[in-house]
Amino acid sequence: MSPEEFRHYGHQLIDWLADQRQYIQDGVPPVMAPVSPGALRSKLPSTPPQQAEPFSALLKDLNALVAPHCSHFLHPSFFGYFPSNGELSSVLADLASTGLGQLGLNWQSSPALTEVEEVATDWLRQLLGLSEHWHGVIQDTASTSTLVALLSARERSSDYGATCGGLQQVHKPLVIYTSAQAHSSVHKAVLLAGFGKQHMRLIETDTDYAIRPAALERAIRADLEQGLQPCAIIASVGTTGTTAIDPLEPIAALAEQFNLWLHVDAALAGSAMILPECRQLFAGIERADSLVLNPHKWLGVAFDCSTYYVRDPQHLIRVMSSNPSYLQTAADGSAKNYRDWGIPLGRRFRALKLWFLLREQGVDGLQARLRRDLANAQWLADQIRQTEDWKILAPVPLQTLCVRHEPAGLSGDALDQHTLGWVNRINASGRAYLTPSQLDGRWMVRVSIGALPTERQHVEALWALMLKEAVS
Ligand SMILES: *Cc1c(COP(=O)(O)O)cnc(C)c1O
Repeated sequence: MSPEEFRHYGHQLIDWLADQRQYIQDGVPPVMAPVSPGALRSKLPSTPPQQAEPFSALLKDLNALVAPHCSHFLHPSFFGYFPSNGELSSVLADLASTGLGQLGLNWQSSPALTEVEEVATDWLRQLLGLSEHWHGVIQDTASTSTLVALLSARERSSDYGATCGGLQQVHKPLVIYTSAQAHSSVHKAVLLAGFGKQHMRLIETDTDYAIRPAALERAIRADLEQGLQPCAIIASVGTTGTTAIDPLEPIAALAEQFNLWLHVDAALAGSAMILPECRQLFAGIERADSLVLNPHKWLGVAFDCSTYYVRDPQHLIRVMSSNPSYLQTAADGSAKNYRDWGIPLGRRFRALKLWFLLREQGVDGLQARLRRDLANAQWLADQIRQTEDWKILAPVPLQTLCVRHEPAGLSGDALDQHTLGWVNRINASGRAYLTPSQLDGRWMVRVSIGALPTERQHVEALWALMLKEAVS
């Protein structure tokens, strides 16, 4: 495609996307695509075209075939999983980043890519209220960031064992501690980093689903007595199930006392640190070794952009660096090589997405939107608490509610059936999207508020729909 053709079709594509966004944010299409598995695949040719096709044919299929098979995180009635808010300014940055054809291998291969990332992650650090002791790098997802944290912890505990005999030669098995409510990515990282399921302790939680520090301490002491070596704690600020907040101060004190790595998974809730009034949820964060949050969730960066902050970048570099001759340059001593801050060698220019968002929205714009969402969540929580037979099952520190309708006489499996019944009716209607999820072995419904176009009126409409589907 020539630059002139790109200009021509690019304008068409942007126009089409702008129309789509308007249509989605006006709430016109069903939130969840009303299709069955294979529905799109059966409409696509099973072999590639031998001859080149006109680009107009691609745009036509995008509109007629692809779009109707999309579910919409950016619909005003999307209350599922978590907000994934690709602000349009950030979408344009994504286009710029690939359009410029930048690929970071070292500083020299794209000086701008490295330096915008340094600036954007440091701006975000300031916005989060983190001290100057923290240094950030962008990873693809929180799953990767948490894996990197566990690899770093493993190497610190084993005195850089992997560079010699690896885990096969450590004298004592290393143990990881996390909450029974921790995200599945934590379990995966423990396996991938080679610790083994057997050496992962799922610490019991309190009635608010947060780690009990006393139980954590007991587990650490028991492992020491068994001759094992405690290695790291992964605390969650904002669990996926209920937004539970593990108490960082007492957990950090234990990490210090027993010389454990402390990694904080705040993939969703971390965005709330831009609000000074929410920072008490993170009290103790300065005592952690590493932190992950996903600006591609609530904050509004277009997926993917996960920021990983560490207090000791030299340690990270020592664990992750590789320095083959063909990547060495004269600038190595004076510039950052982000390949040494994570797993992949090649790096996308993701920093543009964060940088554009922060500039186009401003701190004020981002804070105002998050505050709107917090107020909407509190409004809905109030309605539910005031209504007979409805229950809020966990604290609502931010924008996610755990809800159940519990009519008199229903319990156990019958209650589960009732819950799944009303939530599935709502999702199938296409008028809203909620995530059913299990808590203490029983089904409940998560309502996650905070899609870009979601205003109070949409939350009111959701509540009316919940009442209609559950009660009638
Ligand atoms: C979303 C989420 C993750 C996983 O995020 P990915 O970026 O998709 O890997 C991990 N932990 C928590 C608490 C989350 O909310």
